[in-house]
Amino acid sequence: MIDPFSWLAGWMQEHWLIPVLYHFGWMEWEDTSFLWAIFAIYGVLQVVMNLAVCMPLERFWPLQKWESREAVGTDILYTLVARVGVFPLVTFFVFYQLQTWINGVLTDHGYIPPTLESTFPTLLDHPVLTFFLYAFILDFADYWRHRLSHTFGWWYGLHALHHAQEKMTFWSDDRNHLLDDTITYLWAVVIGLLIGIPPLQFPLLMLMLRFIESLSHANTRMTFGWLGERLVVSPQFHRVHHGLKAAGRRSCNYGAVFPYWDMILRTADFSHDVVETGDPKADRALIDGSWWAQQRAGLKLSVRLALRRRRKDAASTTDAVAGR
Ligand SMILES: [Zn+2]
Ligand SMILES: [Zn+2]
Repeated sequence: MIDPFSWLAGWMQEHWLIPVLYHFGWMEWEDTSFLWAIFAIYGVLQVVMNLAVCMPLERFWPLQKWESREAVGTDILYTLVARVGVFPLVTFFVFYQLQTWINGVLTDHGYIPPTLESTFPTLLDHPVLTFFLYAFILDFADYWRHRLSHTFGWWYGLHALHHAQEKMTFWSDDRNHLLDDTITYLWAVVIGLLIGIPPLQFPLLMLMLRFIESLSHANTRMTFGWLGERLVVSPQFHRVHHGLKAAGRRSCNYGAVFPYWDMILRTADFSHDVVETGDPKADRALIDGSWWAQQRAGLKLSVRLALRRRRKDAASTTDAVAGR
């Protein structure tokens, strides 16, 4: 008996994907388009999973109540574009194609790239442990990506779009600048390739990590308890990162899924009194503009902060030359 995912993926492939591929002359993608359909369905499933868990939390145990939820609408658009479109494309297509290509080139040159499992062969007998090791490594790498995005002005200009939201909900996880998203996915793909994550595990890992990330943005009073929030990033923990006090480039709680990196590197703050979120320096376009207005404002801020850095560098060089 055919499972409902495969049936639906087959239907989508036949009625939607193949006609489009024919139209553009991209028939070499026909075989993989079935798997793409499967992952698009997983993308939808992920949105449904987020809705099933986070919606009741926000409805029955909300932290903040707003009269208008208009600003949340744009975040929903971000989520749909990211999870149903970009997510399957990058995590499955790009990762799979790159891995096949790189491994092919290296093998042709007589070099077999090492993986986590080939370096530590005992892991071959422990697939669940290996899966979690991959998750820890990806999350540790993401901790540094996020921390660096608060360190460099041009990068914070893009990331400020994520922080500008004053009405933070579980939809806000995907509220990111396109360029910031591109760096995030590339970062994960490169780490995944370096440690040799099998192509079918990569999208599953990303599904799991992104689910916790969505939950951590939820507008809810629900807590994980003292121990729980030290094991997995909770909505309170991430809210402190978005809090007005922590707003801007100098922040805390950079971890997306596991709080260990913040605890080890002394950037953790487990306070529970943060309610208001947003970036007081953000202009209105970044806060409640349309999708395009937010993208434009993010890019403008990025350029402005990069130029300010340059001017500062130039001024300090002039001072040094003048012996000031
Ligand atoms: Zn941040
Ligand atoms: Zn966030």
